[in-house]
Amino acid sequence: MSYQIAIDGPAGAGKSTIAKIVAAKKGFIYVDTGAMYRAMAVHMIRTDTDPKDEKAVDSSSQTADISLKYVEGAQHVFLNGEDVTGYLRTEETGNMASLVSKYPSVRSRLVALQKEIALTNDIVMDGRDIGTVVLPDADVKIYLTASSKVRAQRRYDELVTKGQDADINKIEEDIIARDHQDMTREVSPLKKADDAIEIDSSYMTIDEVADRILSLIK
Ligand code: C5P
Repeated sequence: MSYQIAIDGPAGAGKSTIAKIVAAKKGFIYVDTGAMYRAMAVHMIRTDTDPKDEKAVDSSSQTADISLKYVEGAQHVFLNGEDVTGYLRTEETGNMASLVSKYPSVRSRLVALQKEIALTNDIVMDGRDIGTVVLPDADVKIYLTASSKVRAQRRYDELVTKGQDADINKIEEDIIARDHQDMTREVSPLKKADDAIEIDSSYMTIDEVADRILSLIK
Protein backbone atom coordinates (compact mmCIF):
# COMPACT_ATOMS: atom_id res chain seq x y z
CA MET A 1 0.00 0.00 0.00
CA SER A 2 1.15 3.52 -0.75
CA TYR A 3 1.34 6.21 1.94
CA GLN A 4 -1.25 8.93 1.36
CA ILE A 5 -1.41 12.45 2.78
CA ALA A 6 -4.56 14.46 1.90
CA ILE A 7 -4.60 18.25 2.24
CA ASP A 8 -7.85 20.10 1.61
CA GLY A 9 -8.90 23.68 2.16
CA PRO A 10 -10.08 26.90 0.53
CA ALA A 11 -8.27 28.89 -2.17
CA GLY A 12 -5.15 30.65 -0.93
CA ALA A 13 -4.72 28.81 2.38
CA GLY A 14 -1.21 27.77 1.32
CA LYS A 15 -1.98 24.15 0.48
CA SER A 16 0.36 23.81 -2.48
CA THR A 17 3.32 25.56 -0.80
CA ILE A 18 3.00 23.33 2.25
CA ALA A 19 2.27 20.17 0.27
CA LYS A 20 5.41 20.68 -1.84
CA ILE A 21 7.61 21.05 1.27
CA VAL A 22 6.12 17.99 2.95
CA ALA A 23 6.44 15.92 -0.26
CA ALA A 24 10.09 16.96 -0.73
CA LYS A 25 10.95 16.13 2.92
CA LYS A 26 9.33 12.70 2.69
CA GLY A 27 10.46 11.92 -0.88
CA PHE A 28 6.81 11.58 -1.94
CA ILE A 29 5.14 12.76 -5.16
CA TYR A 30 3.09 15.96 -4.90
CA VAL A 31 -0.20 15.90 -6.80
CA ASP A 32 -1.86 19.29 -7.30
CA THR A 33 -5.43 18.35 -8.23
CA GLY A 34 -6.46 22.01 -8.67
CA ALA A 35 -4.09 22.07 -11.66
CA MET A 36 -6.13 19.29 -13.29
CA TYR A 37 -9.36 21.29 -12.89
CA ARG A 38 -7.48 24.32 -14.22
CA ALA A 39 -6.34 22.34 -17.29
CA MET A 40 -9.97 21.40 -17.87
CA ALA A 41 -10.80 25.13 -17.55
CA VAL A 42 -8.18 25.98 -20.21
CA HIS A 43 -9.92 23.49 -22.50
CA MET A 44 -13.33 25.12 -21.79
CA ILE A 45 -11.92 28.60 -22.53
CA ARG A 46 -10.26 27.42 -25.75
CA THR A 47 -13.41 25.67 -26.95
CA ASP A 48 -15.50 28.72 -26.04
CA THR A 49 -17.73 26.65 -23.79
CA ASP A 50 -20.35 28.43 -21.69
CA PRO A 51 -19.69 27.28 -18.08
CA LYS A 52 -23.39 27.74 -17.21
CA ASP A 53 -24.44 25.22 -19.88
CA GLU A 54 -23.96 21.79 -18.31
CA LYS A 55 -24.62 19.90 -21.54
CA ALA A 56 -22.01 21.95 -23.39
CA VAL A 57 -19.50 21.41 -20.57
CA ASP A 58 -20.23 17.65 -20.56
CA SER A 59 -19.63 17.34 -24.26
CA SER A 60 -16.55 19.57 -24.27
CA SER A 61 -15.02 17.63 -21.36
CA GLN A 62 -15.20 14.46 -23.49
CA THR A 63 -12.57 15.93 -25.82
CA ALA A 64 -10.14 16.85 -23.03
CA ASP A 65 -7.49 14.26 -22.35
CA ILE A 66 -5.67 15.33 -19.19
CA SER A 67 -2.56 13.62 -17.85
CA LEU A 68 0.35 14.34 -15.49
CA LYS A 69 4.08 13.90 -15.91
CA TYR A 70 6.86 14.62 -13.45
CA VAL A 71 9.90 16.48 -14.71
CA GLU A 72 12.68 16.70 -12.08
CA GLY A 73 10.07 16.27 -9.36
CA ALA A 74 7.79 19.04 -10.67
CA GLN A 75 4.27 18.27 -11.84
CA HIS A 76 3.48 19.09 -15.47
CA VAL A 77 -0.10 18.94 -16.72
CA PHE A 78 -0.83 17.87 -20.28
CA LEU A 79 -4.01 18.71 -22.17
CA ASN A 80 -4.43 16.65 -25.34
CA GLY A 81 -0.68 16.11 -25.46
CA GLU A 82 0.28 19.77 -24.91
CA ASP A 83 2.06 20.89 -21.74
CA VAL A 84 -0.30 23.60 -20.43
CA THR A 85 1.37 24.03 -17.01
CA GLY A 86 2.35 27.62 -17.84
CA TYR A 87 -1.28 28.66 -18.53
CA LEU A 88 -2.87 27.44 -15.33
CA ARG A 89 -2.26 30.09 -12.69
CA THR A 90 -4.33 33.01 -13.99
CA GLU A 91 -7.46 34.38 -12.27
CA GLU A 92 -9.49 33.64 -15.41
CA THR A 93 -8.48 29.98 -15.33
CA GLY A 94 -9.10 29.69 -11.57
CA ASN A 95 -12.56 31.18 -11.85
CA MET A 96 -13.47 28.98 -14.84
CA ALA A 97 -12.14 25.92 -12.95
CA SER A 98 -14.38 26.73 -10.01
CA LEU A 99 -17.41 27.14 -12.32
CA VAL A 100 -16.99 23.84 -14.22
CA SER A 101 -15.71 21.70 -11.33
CA LYS A 102 -19.25 21.46 -9.97
CA TYR A 103 -20.34 19.16 -12.82
CA PRO A 104 -20.18 15.37 -12.23
CA SER A 105 -18.89 14.73 -15.77
CA VAL A 106 -15.83 16.88 -15.10
CA ARG A 107 -15.18 15.50 -11.61
CA SER A 108 -15.60 11.78 -12.31
CA ARG A 109 -12.82 11.61 -14.91
CA LEU A 110 -10.35 13.62 -12.86
CA VAL A 111 -11.14 11.76 -9.62
CA ALA A 112 -10.54 8.42 -11.40
CA LEU A 113 -7.14 9.65 -12.58
CA GLN A 114 -6.26 10.92 -9.08
CA LYS A 115 -7.17 7.58 -7.46
CA GLU A 116 -5.10 5.72 -10.03
CA ILE A 117 -2.00 7.84 -9.31
CA ALA A 118 -2.45 7.33 -5.55
CA LEU A 119 -2.60 3.57 -5.91
CA THR A 120 1.03 3.12 -6.87
CA ASN A 121 2.82 6.18 -5.42
CA ASP A 122 3.48 7.57 -1.95
CA ILE A 123 1.85 10.95 -2.30
CA VAL A 124 0.83 14.28 -0.87
CA MET A 125 -2.33 15.31 -2.72
CA ASP A 126 -4.08 18.64 -2.27
CA GLY A 127 -7.49 19.89 -3.38
CA ARG A 128 -11.04 20.27 -2.07
CA ASP A 129 -12.37 16.70 -1.85
CA ILE A 130 -9.24 14.62 -1.28
CA GLY A 131 -9.96 13.54 2.31
CA THR A 132 -13.69 13.15 1.67
CA VAL A 133 -13.91 11.55 -1.79
CA VAL A 134 -10.62 10.83 -3.56
CA LEU A 135 -8.65 9.27 -0.69
CA PRO A 136 -11.15 8.50 2.09
CA ASP A 137 -8.61 6.10 3.67
CA ALA A 138 -5.62 8.48 3.55
CA ASP A 139 -3.07 7.94 6.34
CA VAL A 140 -3.07 11.63 7.30
CA LYS A 141 -5.80 14.17 6.48
CA ILE A 142 -5.32 17.89 6.92
CA TYR A 143 -7.86 20.68 6.52
CA LEU A 144 -5.83 23.85 6.02
CA THR A 145 -7.58 27.19 6.43
CA ALA A 146 -6.79 30.86 6.97
CA SER A 147 -9.04 33.91 7.26
CA SER A 148 -10.14 35.49 3.96
CA LYS A 149 -8.33 38.71 4.98
CA VAL A 150 -5.01 36.89 5.45
CA ARG A 151 -5.46 34.93 2.23
CA ALA A 152 -6.23 38.12 0.28
CA GLN A 153 -3.17 39.82 1.79
CA ARG A 154 -0.92 36.91 0.76
CA ARG A 155 -2.25 36.97 -2.81
CA TYR A 156 -1.90 40.75 -2.94
CA ASP A 157 1.75 40.55 -1.77
CA GLU A 158 2.44 37.85 -4.37
CA LEU A 159 1.05 39.99 -7.23
CA VAL A 160 2.83 43.16 -6.06
CA THR A 161 6.13 41.25 -5.82
CA LYS A 162 5.62 40.22 -9.46
CA GLY A 163 5.13 43.89 -10.32
CA GLN A 164 1.43 43.51 -11.12
CA ASP A 165 -1.39 45.90 -10.15
CA ALA A 166 -3.71 44.56 -7.48
CA ASP A 167 -6.77 45.66 -5.52
CA ILE A 168 -6.87 43.91 -2.16
CA ASN A 169 -10.63 44.39 -1.66
CA LYS A 170 -11.39 42.87 -5.07
CA ILE A 171 -9.06 39.95 -4.30
CA GLU A 172 -10.86 39.29 -1.00
CA GLU A 173 -14.26 39.49 -2.74
CA ASP A 174 -13.11 36.92 -5.32
CA ILE A 175 -11.79 34.63 -2.58
CA ILE A 176 -15.09 34.77 -0.68
CA ALA A 177 -17.07 34.12 -3.89
CA ARG A 178 -14.89 31.13 -4.79
CA ASP A 179 -15.16 29.69 -1.23
CA HIS A 180 -18.93 30.01 -1.44
CA GLN A 181 -19.05 28.33 -4.84
CA ASP A 182 -16.79 25.45 -3.73
CA MET A 183 -18.53 24.92 -0.36
CA THR A 184 -22.12 25.01 -1.59
CA ARG A 185 -21.99 22.91 -4.76
CA GLU A 186 -23.95 19.67 -4.73
CA VAL A 187 -21.19 17.29 -5.80
CA SER A 188 -18.14 16.93 -3.54
CA PRO A 189 -18.34 20.33 -1.85
CA LEU A 190 -15.31 21.61 0.02
CA LYS A 191 -15.64 20.46 3.61
CA LYS A 192 -13.49 19.09 6.38
CA ALA A 193 -13.50 15.28 6.52
CA ASP A 194 -14.66 14.02 9.93
CA ASP A 195 -11.23 12.55 10.63
CA ALA A 196 -9.18 15.48 9.25
CA ILE A 197 -7.04 17.66 11.49
CA GLU A 198 -7.76 21.34 11.02
CA ILE A 199 -4.86 23.78 10.90
CA ASP A 200 -5.53 27.52 10.74
CA SER A 201 -2.44 29.01 9.10
CA SER A 202 -3.52 32.67 9.54
CA TYR A 203 -0.83 33.39 12.11
CA MET A 204 1.63 30.59 11.40
CA THR A 205 4.72 30.63 9.20
CA ILE A 206 5.07 28.19 6.30
CA ASP A 207 7.72 26.24 8.24
CA GLU A 208 5.51 26.01 11.32
CA VAL A 209 2.66 24.52 9.30
CA ALA A 210 4.98 22.08 7.47
CA ASP A 211 6.58 20.99 10.77
CA ARG A 212 3.17 20.43 12.32
CA ILE A 213 2.17 18.12 9.44
CA LEU A 214 5.52 16.31 9.48
CA SER A 215 5.10 15.65 13.20
CA LEU A 216 1.59 14.32 12.59
CA ILE A 217 3.03 11.90 10.00
CA LYS A 218 5.54 10.64 12.59
O1 C5P B 1 -6.66 24.80 -5.88
P1 C5P B 1 -6.95 25.63 -7.11
O2 C5P B 1 -7.22 27.06 -6.80
O3 C5P B 1 -5.91 25.45 -8.16
O4 C5P B 1 -8.31 25.00 -7.69
C1 C5P B 1 -9.04 25.64 -8.71
C2 C5P B 1 -10.51 25.20 -8.60
O5 C5P B 1 -10.62 23.81 -8.93
C3 C5P B 1 -11.12 25.31 -7.20
O6 C5P B 1 -11.69 26.58 -6.94
C4 C5P B 1 -12.18 24.23 -7.20
O7 C5P B 1 -13.41 24.69 -7.74
C5 C5P B 1 -11.63 23.20 -8.15
N1 C5P B 1 -11.10 22.03 -7.45
C6 C5P B 1 -11.99 21.05 -7.06
N2 C5P B 1 -11.53 19.91 -6.48
C7 C5P B 1 -10.23 19.72 -6.25
C8 C5P B 1 -9.29 20.73 -6.61
C9 C5P B 1 -9.76 21.89 -7.21
O8 C5P B 1 -13.19 21.20 -7.24
N3 C5P B 1 -9.82 18.58 -5.72
